[in-house]
Amino acid sequence: MRVLVVEDDPLLGDALRAGLAQAGFAADWARDGRAGLVALESEPFAAVVLDLGLPQLSGVEVLRRLREAGNPVPVLILTARDAVPDRIAGLDAGADDYLVKPVDLGELAARIRALVRRSAGQASPVLVVGPLHIDPAAHQVVFRRRSVELSAREFALLHELARSAGRVLSKEQLAERVWGWGEELESNAVEVHVHHLRRKLAPEVIVTVRGVGYLVPKDLA
Ligand code: CA
Repeated sequence: MRVLVVEDDPLLGDALRAGLAQAGFAADWARDGRAGLVALESEPFAAVVLDLGLPQLSGVEVLRRLREAGNPVPVLILTARDAVPDRIAGLDAGADDYLVKPVDLGELAARIRALVRRSAGQASPVLVVGPLHIDPAAHQVVFRRRSVELSAREFALLHELARSAGRVLSKEQLAERVWGWGEELESNAVEVHVHHLRRKLAPEVIVTVRGVGYLVPKDLA
């Protein structure tokens, strides 16, 4: 899952990006409000961690413009401990959740998972497609009652496909959602990971739609 961090403090921004990557997200980092907005307008992020005090464009202004443009991406704002009015302004401008600095990275990752889940209308923390059970918090996959060991990238790819079960995702869409900026991406990386997933699970888990992309069937059995 791609997550965008918008934070101007270099130490905090770097720590957040690294911590989220550690938690299994493809995390990108924008250093001011305008860069954050441009990134959100051009690429598919599953969630955003947004500082409010930002150069170029404030966090509240980023939120306002996002929501005015109809972008529903879940947004978690970061605020200072004593900044209750900021928090209220952020929530009223369309934020979905907030955390008070200093941020606990484990809590941040858990809140992002919850936001993404809720935005998809999913109540349970475990994503279920027939016999395929994906637990993003524990990074565990169970298929036909058997636990399956996956690499971080295989897990991320399967999670994206399962989140969109029944819908085709192109190779480009998958690459955009699973790999962050500046990460090495071989031209056949998606195919290679799909091949490994089929071998570890079962061939029918990921269907190739010729010339279009891949899908996990909704009625997987
Ligand atoms: Ca700041």
